Amino acid sequence: MPAELRLIPCLADNYAVLLRDPVTEATAVVDVPEVAPVLAALEREDWTLTHILVTHHHTDHIAGVEALKERFGATVIGPKAEQDTIPGLDFAVVDGDPVAVGGLVGRVLETPGHTKGHIVFLFEGERLLFSGDTLFVMGCGRPFECAPPVLWESLARLRTLPDDISVYCGHEYTLANARFARSVDPDNAAVAARLEEIEALRAAGQPTLPTTIGAEKATNPFMRADDPELAARIGLAGAEPGAVFTELRALKNNFRG
Ligand code: ZN
Ligand code: FE
Repeated sequence: MPAELRLIPCLADNYAVLLRDPVTEATAVVDVPEVAPVLAALEREDWTLTHILVTHHHTDHIAGVEALKERFGATVIGPKAEQDTIPGLDFAVVDGDPVAVGGLVGRVLETPGHTKGHIVFLFEGERLLFSGDTLFVMGCGRPFECAPPVLWESLARLRTLPDDISVYCGHEYTLANARFARSVDPDNAAVAARLEEIEALRAAGQPTLPTTIGAEKATNPFMRADDPELAARIGLAGAEPGAVFTELRALKNNFRG
């Protein structure tokens, strides 16, 4: 039986995601920005939380971890590199470590950049990636704790995953990301079409998640820092991808679309 998923809007623009194995009834939440909406979703479904997966140590991803752990006795799994700043961790994981939610078996990929220890959870059998604040729909996190090229290498790694992997990320930043993508990539028909779709979804109050690796490769400028045409478009013809990525991040930070 396929995994069951529930996307839970939290705070102003965060998401938590429930991932459930219907066979064993094991149920994980990926990141806990706040307790109440996650609890409400669990109660609505009559699901019992067994695992808490944490992508990184920022408050808007861990604020509700301890409360949910206490309530359900759930097992908390998060990045070893951030174990000192994530309260309640039971298992500190590194690149390649397996993560099992009942019969759903995923593995950890380290994707430093937004934070030094940021990890993502890949459930290849389920065609699912939980990307936290590394990869957003048509965007990426800000490289707060690493030089921008470090985040570029992480995104380039995620780009090697199969196109049909669905991606759930930590925030609903898609509309601003899509407008920025359009500004740096105005001749890209896939970007233009997607911006229209996203405007319609957001106008209807709908989430823009999940995306796919394939859609990101086609429309996310931060996944294409090694594309010579995109480099030329921002005045960096012939530059290293890391430099192009750094400039894209700077342009995005200053973008008021
Ligand atoms: Zn963050
Ligand atoms: Fe965040």
